[in-house]
Amino acid sequence: MGCDPVQIQVLLPLPLSGPFDYLAAADMPLRAGDFVTVPLGSRTLQGVVWDMSPKKSNIAAEKLKFVLEKRDLPALPSSLRQFIDWVAAYTLSPPGAVLKMAVSVPRAFDKPKTRTLYRLSPDLPGKLTESRGAVVKAAISDMPLSLKDWAELANVGQGVLRGMVKAGQMAPVEIIGDSPYAAPDAALIGPRLSPEQQQAAEHLTQMVRADQFKPVLLEGITGSGKTEVYFEAIAEALKEDGAQILVLLPEIALTAQWLDRFEAQFGAPPVVWHSELTPVQRRRAWWALREDNPERRARVVVGARSALFLPFVDLKLIVVDEEHSATFKQEDGVMYQGRDMAVVRAMQTACPVILASATPSLETILNAQAGKYDWLYLGERHGTAILPDMKVIDLRAEKLKSGTWLSDPLRAALTQNLARGEQSLLYLNRRGYAPLTLCRTCGHRMECPHCSAWLVEHRKGGRLSCHHCGFSCAMPKTCPECDSTGSMVACGPGVERVAEEAQALFPEARIAVMASDEIASPADLRQMITRIADHEVDLIIGTQIVTKGHHFPMLTLVGVVDADLGLGGGDPRAAERTWQQLEQVAGRAGRADHPGQVLFQTYMPDHPVLAALVSGDGQAFLEQEAQDREQQNLPPFGKLAAIIISGKDFNATAKTARHLAALAPKNSGITVLGPVPAPMAFLRGKHRFRLLIKADKQVKLQKSMADWLNSCALERGVTLQVDIDPYSFF
Ligand code: ADP
Ligand code: ZN
Ligand code: ZN
Repeated sequence: MGCDPVQIQVLLPLPLSGPFDYLAAADMPLRAGDFVTVPLGSRTLQGVVWDMSPKKSNIAAEKLKFVLEKRDLPALPSSLRQFIDWVAAYTLSPPGAVLKMAVSVPRAFDKPKTRTLYRLSPDLPGKLTESRGAVVKAAISDMPLSLKDWAELANVGQGVLRGMVKAGQMAPVEIIGDSPYAAPDAALIGPRLSPEQQQAAEHLTQMVRADQFKPVLLEGITGSGKTEVYFEAIAEALKEDGAQILVLLPEIALTAQWLDRFEAQFGAPPVVWHSELTPVQRRRAWWALREDNPERRARVVVGARSALFLPFVDLKLIVVDEEHSATFKQEDGVMYQGRDMAVVRAMQTACPVILASATPSLETILNAQAGKYDWLYLGERHGTAILPDMKVIDLRAEKLKSGTWLSDPLRAALTQNLARGEQSLLYLNRRGYAPLTLCRTCGHRMECPHCSAWLVEHRKGGRLSCHHCGFSCAMPKTCPECDSTGSMVACGPGVERVAEEAQALFPEARIAVMASDEIASPADLRQMITRIADHEVDLIIGTQIVTKGHHFPMLTLVGVVDADLGLGGGDPRAAERTWQQLEQVAGRAGRADHPGQVLFQTYMPDHPVLAALVSGDGQAFLEQEAQDREQQNLPPFGKLAAIIISGKDFNATAKTARHLAALAPKNSGITVLGPVPAPMAFLRGKHRFRLLIKADKQVKLQKSMADWLNSCALERGVTLQVDIDPYSFF
């Protein structure tokens, strides 16, 4: 008899280097993926069996500790374990930190509650009262139901049922687990598709049937029916028993309309997954996705990027909507690009992945051009809607009066639109009243004490707050520097200030400000969207949250208050991102049967971004962008990574940064730039330095960087953050 303990590896959800070695007693049958509790130092922790036959460890078997217990939980699917390893290796993160994202869903692993359901007894007496007879008639084969459901089905009081239980005519059944989610119905009929939509839908359904890895770009102008088209692919995947579908949306809090459409089409809501769920909601979703029985399994998840780490057992399709959105990039902890990782997840599970957008990222376009991705294009708006007319307002000629932000031509257009009884939108991607407050007497600027950033005035609450760390204070009555009274002035506009100007111009207009800090909850947002859709609002003043796929049929004028915002800075994607954002905002205009108009206020009317918007030639713009990036060897032509070195102590942080740079790899094909103080040189009380690593495409960047980082000792209290393919450069 083989009674020797087995040496295994267990991964703990901690940011430590890798899995640890343990011994498993011979009478504890374990498999990879099982949840176990193990001792670590003086603590007892929960981890996941990662490897049942590791290649030798450095630690002598006598020194190893035993696994304490196998938890009574379903194992982590191997596809998810493989994905975790991949993400860790790619992002140069400790695998435990990635596992943490997958398993530290608070209380998701609690045993679901036991519920008592009731089933008819097999031997019922021949004669029953009328109401008991009704209960027997109402039975759905031998499905157990709650007394409440029985009462409703048979249309009898619960007293009748309790009587039957007492008489032994009904038997209790203990059911472990939450109630399953209602299954979406693939057979419901969607809208009639246009020929163009039909063709795209057929391509997608065929891909689903082919059941292989294949990315496809579903490009289509706003309002062309991309959602309707990929719903067809979802319906196709649903036809297979138990098959699962994952839809990623950039901001799950903003998707009320999407959820309504899904439910209207499929007769049941999808499982929603994001960081704001309650523990019970998380547990229910987690277990239902992991469910072995296809009939009880959760089928469709719509979620934020974290949904990639859910334990799907039969994933058949992934959709990434608004694939260009920078919100798919996680900017703290494990820094990963959700869209790219969705493609990896699809590859590992061998299923198609649909990337949908009106303004696809350059990366995706290039992959489609190279033939790596299929490419579908929808060029017509649904129904009679046509694309809006776009014009530039040159602010060098149309001078703004001091303290105002709406030029004469924009005011005129607003006046006309209001007079016609149509809706307008003013877009400014800046929350609050003013981005800067300074003292007129001494020039003192109000800055955050914890960050190198200005404090933003929020006039409604009478406060100044930092948009980077959340610091906030009351608006000072006197200058903190020179003590002058009444000398603090607001500089520049935020949405609140534009709303103030608009309200003064159009006292009769019903104005709504749409910004994340004005909207406390998804329910609030839903209410605001309904108010706008019902035309209870004449003028919307909003930040980028208005760009996210809402459909406002009466909206016919969009004014972009500052089209130049976002074009500066050292971000290689600044132009691309601004173009995408403005194109998306512009797409809000004229979506139903009213033609739309878009006006961009700018000091740079000749900038390629504005030229592309006005001419409608996004293609030429992206080609130019691609050329520029190729010349500079920037992604996706070359590789880019950043290292952020941060710490409370300036000298220790600077020393680590210099030390790291001195040890930089000397391989050909890699260039290390820096260290330099980060643009945000001080953030949440920590000093920050940046290194930028540029590499040729064929360089194995992760390997070189891992060796490099391992060779470098950090000063006390200094941390490194690695950002492969960075999207933000602050
Ligand atoms: P996109 O995702 O490309 O912006 P949507 O799928 O949101 O486009 O479609 C825009 C609007 O047009 C939605 O209200 C949608 O319901 C409607 N629509 C699109 N295609 C059809 C169709 N074939 N029949 C009926 N309504 C459609
Ligand atoms: Zn002052
Ligand atoms: Zn701050």
